[in-house]
Amino acid sequence: MKYTDYDKAELHCHLNGSIPINTILKVIDNKCGFKEHDYIIDKPVKNLSEYFNPWKITRLLPHNKNIFMAILDGIGREMFTDNIKYIELRNSIIYLAKLNNITYDEVLDWYIEGFEAIKSEYKIDMRLIISVRREINEINEYYKILDLIKKKNSNIFVGFDLTGNETEVHFNEWPTFFRRVKENGYGITIHAGESWSDENVRYAITKCKADRIGHGLAIANNPELLELCKQNNICIEVCLTSNILTSSVSDISSHPVLQFHKFNIPYVLCSDNPGIRNKNLSFEYELFETITKISNFAEGMYENQLKYAFKNLR
Ligand SMILES: [Zn+2]
Repeated sequence: MKYTDYDKAELHCHLNGSIPINTILKVIDNKCGFKEHDYIIDKPVKNLSEYFNPWKITRLLPHNKNIFMAILDGIGREMFTDNIKYIELRNSIIYLAKLNNITYDEVLDWYIEGFEAIKSEYKIDMRLIISVRREINEINEYYKILDLIKKKNSNIFVGFDLTGNETEVHFNEWPTFFRRVKENGYGITIHAGESWSDENVRYAITKCKADRIGHGLAIANNPELLELCKQNNICIEVCLTSNILTSSVSDISSHPVLQFHKFNIPYVLCSDNPGIRNKNLSFEYELFETITKISNFAEGMYENQLKYAFKNLR
């Protein structure tokens, strides 16, 4: 059985990194001179800022509602062909509101409408994790968004993600904000340890009370953090290809997932940005099998993906 034939769930993928190239070619203005190689990253880049170059294009794409819906449809169709049944897509609310000169409330309605269309067209249960940039102090905006999603009373909004540049200063307010997130029953996932910072992982778990950690590479070399994850039942979102492309891991055969597996730390395979690397979640499964020599993991992986999904909190 091929990995595409297995039911799967995707817990870590960014909307702006998940748009299939054929969808971009459909919605982009041809006159701007867009080339496929401006978007697709297929070999390791020098640093994270080079890795984020495609975002300069994708963040400007959804400048009206029809294009936003076409982007969601393109992502849904691509995930459907890979037999993905449940998706937690990550995206910010703020840039969409600014780009379209609309309110946060209207942006939230776009998501609700778009995700309902995905459900009816592809039978995929798609939910939203709201991305929060750690190095930009827009915290008051996120409190407003938190209040708005509570009022929406829609189960598509399932959590918050702290993302952005890990090497930048953290604002002191994040733990208070995430306490409010948790009190209201939303999940918390934090990009931490992708740049091998032990301190960021500790901060995410002990101060921000993360339920899941994105990447978490630093955990593998630190017995204290391995124990902290085990004791707190923290699930690590493992993104193999992404770690190679960002040059966070230089040798895939010694990827930290081997340590997570050895120490029985919960983890799920995810694709992070399947659009910009033009590979799907099944490709991550094949890579995992190559590294670990484990071949009968796909059904257990789906169980784990559903077990740690934030929809369980709603
Ligand atoms: Zn990510």
